[in-house]
This record gives sequence, structure tokens and C-alpha cells, in this order.
Amino acid sequence: DVTIQHVNKRFGQKQVLQGVDLRITSGQCVALVGPSGSGKTTLLRLIAGLEKVSDGTIRFGEIDMTHAAPNQRGVTMLFQRPLLFPHLTVGQNIRLGMAKGHHEDLQQWLEKVGLAGRADAFVHELSGGEQQRASLARALASGPNFLLLDEPFSSLDLPRRRELRTLIRRLTVAEGVTTLLVTHDREEAMAMADYVYVMEQGQIIDQGHPVKLAEKSPFFGDGMYLDGDW
Ligand code: ATP
Repeated sequence: DVTIQHVNKRFGQKQVLQGVDLRITSGQCVALVGPSGSGKTTLLRLIAGLEKVSDGTIRFGEIDMTHAAPNQRGVTMLFQRPLLFPHLTVGQNIRLGMAKGHHEDLQQWLEKVGLAGRADAFVHELSGGEQQRASLARALASGPNFLLLDEPFSSLDLPRRRELRTLIRRLTVAEGVTTLLVTHDREEAMAMADYVYVMEQGQIIDQGHPVKLAEKSPFFGDGMYLDGDW
């Protein structure tokens, strides 16, 4: 499990996270929802080791990772925009994510994300959805323990969102990858997560199983089943 205890984060005088406690059970998908500016991305970056924690601890299993370097954490991320090198082919991009000696797995990864036969296509020849799928293959091909998703669907239309969502769930379960999804889209959180944390102004204000949370939390109230962002 990933255990976050009493984490504070300040940028200068500005307190961005305050006393955050959060646990991600191994193999599960946890969603972190909340309005813009509530601190979701900051928490994700602390877990990835891209920002320093001001106070508190982050543990992966029994290991204290609070001050570990990003590359020691077994974490990979998927962002709003596909993170691919445009001057390289799809195959070359995915290979960059692979450990040495595993390059023969390329075809398998292409098949897993529905890009069989597209190894030699250049990134700009792919649609937005295809680019995100290639980014996913590259992220998972590194054999991570944790996948951190920061609004990875926001540049896609609704059918493409649903497709990528289903694919991410299927592959992370199959590969045993623990997942944290940051989103302000409640439908997305409902559709993907085993457990949801609600964040506001740098604090966790509610948490629970998505269905239970939907019954009681105003954040999950009106428009719960509407599509898209709101
Ligand atoms: P969004 O959904 O818009 O991405 P968020 O919930 O992810 O929002 P964060 O990006 O974590 O929120 O930002 C939380 C607060 O921290 C904001 O007020 C932001 O301005 C501030 N912040 C983030 N990074 C820095 C930084 N490097 N220096 C100073 N302030 C920062």
C-alpha cells in the first residue's frame, strides 16, 4: 500500500496541502477529486517525488519514500497531454519505457493498447486517443508498481475517454499496478475508482467507496451521471 501521513506542503508562505492522510491499497485504483486549485496535482507530484514534502511521511509498503529520488519509487505518470517524442515513431517511444532486454515485448504492448501494426507510424500521424494509448503503453512498459494519472482524459472526446478508461482499468488490473487518478470529473471517479478521496483547499474533506460517497456527499450530488467536466 501507499500510505501518506500528515502531509503538509508549503510553497513559500502559501500552504497548499494541510494534514493530508491517504492510503492506496495495493492493486486498487483510488481517485482524488476536487475543484481546481485544491492541491490534487501537488499531492500527485509529492508521491512521484517531483516536489519535496514540507512535513509528514510517504511510505510504499514498509519503506519510507518521503525523501527518495523519483527514479527509486517505481512510479510512472500519465498526464493531460500525451508525453511522446514527436520526431520518433510509436515503437521507438514505447521502447524508451522498456527495461533493457525486454524490447521483444514491443509487439505485445502495441497489441495490448490496440496499436498493432502502428509501430512505425510517427506520433503526429496518430489521433489524440491513439497518442494517449501509446503514452499508456510507454508508461506501463517500464513495469511500474504505481501509475499516477493526472486528468489523462481531458483532451479526449467522450467515446475516447470511455475507451481509455476501460483500457487503463483492464491493463492496470492485469499488470497488478496500483493506480491514483486525479480528476475533477465525478463520473470518471465513479467509473474507475475502488475508493475516492475528496479534496478541498488542501485538505481531505471526505472519502469512501464511490457508491456510498455518491449517496451522502454534496460533491457527488447533482449531475452525478452527466458526462464530461463541470
Ligand atoms: P487543477 O485541477 O486546476 O490542476 P489542483 O487541485 O491540481 O488544480 P494544484 O495544481 O495542486 O491544484 O495547486 C494547488 C495550489 O498550489 C494552487 O493554488 C497553486 O497555485 C499552488 N501551487 C502549485 N504549484 C505551485 C508552485 N510551484 N509554487 C507556488 N504555488 C504553487
